[in-house]
Amino acid sequence: MSEQFIAAQKVLEALEKAGYEAYLVGGCVRDSLLNKEPADYDVTTNALPGEVQKIFPRTVPTGLQHGTVSVIQNKTVVEVTTFRVDGTYEDCRRPRDVKFVSNLKDDLMRRDFTINALAMDRDGNVIDYVDGRIDLKRGLIRTVGKAEERFKEDALRMMRACRFAAQLSFQIEESTKVAINTCKCFANHLAVERIVAEFTRIWKTNQPSKGLIPLVETGLLGELPPFYETSITPNIQQREWENLDRFETHLEKWVYFFYLVFRDNENHKQVCKANIIDVLPKFKFSNSEKKTIFNMINLIASWNPNIKEKEGKLLLLKHHFKRVQLAEKLWRIISWRESSLPLEKWWTEMPVHHFSELAINGNDLLRVTERTPGPWIRETLQYLFYQVAFGHIKNQKQVLEKEGGKYGAGITP
Ligand code: ATP
Ligand code: MG
Repeated sequence: MSEQFIAAQKVLEALEKAGYEAYLVGGCVRDSLLNKEPADYDVTTNALPGEVQKIFPRTVPTGLQHGTVSVIQNKTVVEVTTFRVDGTYEDCRRPRDVKFVSNLKDDLMRRDFTINALAMDRDGNVIDYVDGRIDLKRGLIRTVGKAEERFKEDALRMMRACRFAAQLSFQIEESTKVAINTCKCFANHLAVERIVAEFTRIWKTNQPSKGLIPLVETGLLGELPPFYETSITPNIQQREWENLDRFETHLEKWVYFFYLVFRDNENHKQVCKANIIDVLPKFKFSNSEKKTIFNMINLIASWNPNIKEKEGKLLLLKHHFKRVQLAEKLWRIISWRESSLPLEKWWTEMPVHHFSELAINGNDLLRVTERTPGPWIRETLQYLFYQVAFGHIKNQKQVLEKEGGKYGAGITP
């Protein structure tokens, strides 16, 4: 028994002793019935938030307006939420207000999917008004109530359906899937941060393709911000999505995902740069992540497994060993072909990999040539850099001053 489970049981016990009803609810019940270790335990109760705060000595008012109090039990946090129903929804995402209610059934009926609408009492009895256990057995994601209504209330649920499909390796039930197709345009309103959070959860699963396939099949992907502002019409085979499951890091998965979404449908060696430049900044990655993703997409799209030494070394100098190595790995996975270029050998053979490693700098050039500064300095350093990298001259100050002086003299300032 995990510490978290013990803490949650103690919370149930204390609430019951104080005369209230209390149950484990949502993801923790679903995961326990699937014999998975729940990520956290949520409790639902008819005690009002103020009453919960009175019962437990250590609490944090996490979301009082939604009825949530975090109870700290030993070192574990258990979220306790008062039975509630949601008021009118705004912006296809959030209820304007919530209303506390006194019975469990109402609380369970407001939940998104039948497998998430299960409660469990302290003795392990499951309370199930929506055949959630049957859906758990069948491996189905189905909304509580009419799917169209539930998706119009909160468009994030459509994305959550795809995420749960990946997390649990479940299928989205047919009429729920049809409703996603019908309601997909309501997803335009969602915040990009929410979308990224859901993708990140999908990347964490063993089979991201299980979430991506319904996302594409239902047409939801093209309606998600920021994609709906561009005209993406990706033509992606199932096998290509399944490739996603073979990548390791989130960055690799993002790169591959964007490559599939933005590649030219006719010529797979080309990607639509304008769309990438338009969309990528909206995802709020760090600048270095953006640069890596952008360069990697272009690198894998134009990958040549038979590249010769000179071009290979130029590629390495331009993009750095790590990125080129990663691009080769992604290309292998994507194309199901071999590419085993001696990248590491080429890289280590080169005595310098960056301008800063040259034994000369711009000031040295100004001194030996007695010229005024100008673009010729960068050009000369670039020339020297490639000469050294390719082993034509030695990386020694005197040699570089002489060669740089000669070369620089030939460039008009
Ligand atoms: P995870 O294991 O990923 O945390 P979870 O099912 O616990 O999965 P949460 O987002 O933590 O998911 O939400 C807890 C519970 O709250 C869900 O199981 C579901 O019952 C309910 N819920 C969450 N988001 C929604 C929503 N958008 N609409 C309706 N019910 C929701
Ligand atoms: Mg949860």
